[in-house]
Amino acid sequence: MKEEFRLLIALQDLDIMIKETKDQSTSEELKNLGFKLTGLKELQEARVKLARKIPPVLINRYEKLMEHYTMAILPVTSDKCLGCFVRLPSVFFSAAHSHRLLTCENCGRMLYLL
Ligand SMILES: [Zn+2]
Repeated sequence: MKEEFRLLIALQDLDIMIKETKDQSTSEELKNLGFKLTGLKELQEARVKLARKIPPVLINRYEKLMEHYTMAILPVTSDKCLGCFVRLPSVFFSAAHSHRLLTCENCGRMLYLL
């Protein structure tokens, strides 16, 4: 997998953690379950550093998708998009596409082959 995809996936993980930390009820629940939450400030600093390493074109696309969805970038684990469950065209699975970031034609989410 290309380095920029890995960074983008890491960014999404961070964003999900930030969102969960911001959600007080979830944070309380996680604390009750014994999870130690990293401070929101540290998470946001890490996000800024990580975002700097990702090409702006990709960040922009990602941010737009995150306004609408919980996940903007998803792995392809079957012949369907995990976001909207629409069947993906078979051309997606050709070797030529294996190192590219793909786009679901139905929902626009970014997809990558595992
Ligand atoms: Zn989709």
